[in-house]
Amino acid sequence: MKTDLFIAGAGPAGLTAAQYGARAGLRVTIAERLAVGGQALLIDNLENYPGAGGANDDAHKSGFELVDAMKAQAAAFGARFITDAVHTITKTSDGFTVTTADSEPWLASAVIVATGTKHKTLGVPGETEFYGKGVSYCATCDGPFFKSKRIFVVGGGDVAVSEAAYLSRLSRDIVLAHRRDKLRAQKILADRVLHNPNITVRFNTRIVEIIGEQKVNGVILEDAASGARNREEADAAFIFIGSTPQIPDVRGAEFKTDSEGYVLTGQDMQTSIPGLFAAGDCRKTPFRQVVVACGEGAIAAHCAAAYIDGMI
Ligand code: NAP
Repeated sequence: MKTDLFIAGAGPAGLTAAQYGARAGLRVTIAERLAVGGQALLIDNLENYPGAGGANDDAHKSGFELVDAMKAQAAAFGARFITDAVHTITKTSDGFTVTTADSEPWLASAVIVATGTKHKTLGVPGETEFYGKGVSYCATCDGPFFKSKRIFVVGGGDVAVSEAAYLSRLSRDIVLAHRRDKLRAQKILADRVLHNPNITVRFNTRIVEIIGEQKVNGVILEDAASGARNREEADAAFIFIGSTPQIPDVRGAEFKTDSEGYVLTGQDMQTSIPGLFAAGDCRKTPFRQVVVACGEGAIAAHCAAAYIDGMI
């Protein structure tokens, strides 16, 4: 099957690229293995997306609402959506071959990788065993199951504090455990946790085990300085300790990533392989935000169109 521009991943970066590519007159195929929208679907209130949010609930817009509108917009311009997992991307003499789980190989003139990231795991005993039974990586998905319960949140970045603030609307007993003595999160987000009566912040605290029977009923905490351990009651452990890129298998030794696997590109979002672009959270970038992903998607599609023009 042939397409001009193949986009792997339909989060904000991929969706924006699809819209720009289709508007530029390209035949665009965009593949998403799960739900269109990616991690943006989990955002309760897009308070810092320009024009979409604000400091109060009156201006409230969710990630779902945004990506739903982005999908409709891209489709209206002619982008073709497929539900499929991209496996390999291989440069050929006249473009790329993209293999997926469920389709015949796609032949594309240019490809944009916008496959985002996946959450990191703590790697402590009980984490895998109690996944779905009190261990979670998504507050908007699982928080309502723990209304009025004692919830531990792990991490000190933007996601951990945002999700702790969200959970504090469901329970008055949230404990944020962070391994250092300072939060990494942006100040405006951190302040909401530090001054929240429903949230206790435990600095220099690691969760070293999650315990329970049929479901989580406690955590073992370790003091990062002294190494002293104690058990505390808990109904849930929500873990937000960062993310790691998820990239299809790009065939070719010249494909460059940094040491953590984030894709390296130029300002035009082109990777080290001509005609292969990357955009959004899977790219090495100093600031992972929906608005940044959208901007990168637009640049990637614009430059992919120019690349394809040069091929003709
Ligand atoms: P992050 O900024 O990398 O923070 C990860 C946090 O987890 C850090 O506090 C880190 O501790 C802690 N951590 C890492 N490994 C750990 C381990 N093994 N055990 C215990 N704690 C561990 O990741 P993130 O919060 O997922 O954010 C990802 C990106 O999304 C960021 O670029 C962020 O700015 C962006 N984002 C922005 C918004 C917003 O603007 N509203 C919202 C969500 C996300 P240390 O601090 O000690 O390293």
